[in-house]
Amino acid sequence: SQTAKEAGKCAFYNCEVAQKQQREREMNNRFVQALADEEFQVYLQPKVSLQQRKIKGAEALVRWDYPGRGILPLSEFIPLLENSGKIQALEKYIFERVCRWLKQREGEKKKLYPVSVNLSRSHFAREDFMEDFIRIADDYRVDKSLLKFEVTETLFLEHAHLSRVEEGIRIMHEQGFLCSLDDFGSGYSSFTMLKDFDIDVLKLDRSFFLDLHSEKARSIIACIQELAESLHIKTVAEGIETQEQLAYVNSMHCDVIQGFYFSRPLPLKEFETWADTFVFPDFEINMCGGVNP
Ligand code: C2E
Ligand code: MG
Ligand code: MG
Ligand code: MG
Repeated sequence: SQTAKEAGKCAFYNCEVAQKQQREREMNNRFVQALADEEFQVYLQPKVSLQQRKIKGAEALVRWDYPGRGILPLSEFIPLLENSGKIQALEKYIFERVCRWLKQREGEKKKLYPVSVNLSRSHFAREDFMEDFIRIADDYRVDKSLLKFEVTETLFLEHAHLSRVEEGIRIMHEQGFLCSLDDFGSGYSSFTMLKDFDIDVLKLDRSFFLDLHSEKARSIIACIQELAESLHIKTVAEGIETQEQLAYVNSMHCDVIQGFYFSRPLPLKEFETWADTFVFPDFEINMCGGVNP
């Protein structure tokens, strides 16, 4: 009967919800031990300049290698750790690992690549949140201009925090760090953010580059690019996978790209090998947007 079917569905649903809650409880409880056991790993994904034909830096992206479950999808644990307030500890850990890596490279007289780390909005609830990051960078004595914080536009939606956001970015700059606005164009992008906040880099969301034949998308990117240039803000195109997309962003004068076209995010050691042996592919991009092999 209909009701029995519904009850069955409901029981199934309850079971799924219960399982999910159980998993979440487990992840939350494991978190501190997981940090200590080094289950969290830093992956790096390169950013490449088309004009300079070289690596401009990398973005640090976290992975959780969960015992018995392998690498967890980020969607399973980032929102969870955001809700339980644990993301702050995780991001300091990632930042610390990045500083350690830079220091180690410096010690080995290897080339240093600027690295950006993602900063969740929850940090900004605390007035003095930058202090820990400053202390970590100082402890490792890394050149702070090699470090950049990526914040997303959702940060600017919480009006209660706006003065703290402004203050946070001011402190970043005072200390010599840089600041990027991540995923620009994926949500409530507002030009006010660019006017009111001192952003160094704008990361154009990968959704802009999915439909290359859209005249509208083209106009919008061209407009954002021009605006960024006149505001002395650099741009990075996210999620570039194909040569066609690459030629397209190049024709829009967007110089730095990040995406699978060059590389997926890689574990530190693999990134080192990749970067140290990187040769810019042998093609010329003409200004009409085509690629000449
Ligand atoms: P994001 O900051 O926009 O990071 C870029 C994401 O785009 C990464 O996914 C990267 O693997 C993916 N990506 C890069 N190139 C391509 C491409 O060519 N095609 C496609 N389809 N995807 C590409 P990932 O590592 O899964 O990260 C997803 C999101 O998770 C990140 O988006 C970021 O918002 C969040 N995340 C990762 N690490 C952290 C962290 O330490 N803290 C916080 N708060 N969030 C993090
Ligand atoms: Mg990011
Ligand atoms: Mg992004
Ligand atoms: Mg994105």
